[in-house]
Amino acid sequence: MASEFTSSELEAYLDESLPIERMTAIEEALRKDSGLREQLAATNGRRDAGVHSIGEIWRRHRLSCPSREQLGSFLLGVLPTDAADYVKFHVDTIECRYCEANLEDLRAQQAAAHAGQIEQRRQRYFQSSAGYLRRDE
Ligand SMILES: [Zn+2]
Repeated sequence: MASEFTSSELEAYLDESLPIERMTAIEEALRKDSGLREQLAATNGRRDAGVHSIGEIWRRHRLSCPSREQLGSFLLGVLPTDAADYVKFHVDTIECRYCEANLEDLRAQQAAAHAGQIEQRRQRYFQSSAGYLRRDE
């Protein structure tokens, strides 16, 4: 997909010198367009002694974090590719601490849920194969 933004516009975005509507338009597009994200990362990389890291910019603008549901689906690997790319970009490139913490928390929850399922299966097996030994826990 060809970008509708010029590199000088992206430069200006990095300098936060665009009109607010244009900043917003770029942010919207960045969310959907992985090509544009690469273009922005490349633009940022070309700059001398990075005035800002992309991460700083995004954090400052508090570009919307994925929802907790999205993060959960991401961990389960059921998020559509585009959305999963966005989560990866958001966490790996932007290094959003809030979402990292959220992911950590969800990972722990899913691990616990998984352990719970194994325990349930184990108990079912135990009950059906040795019902008379059934114990309540
Ligand atoms: Zn976030």
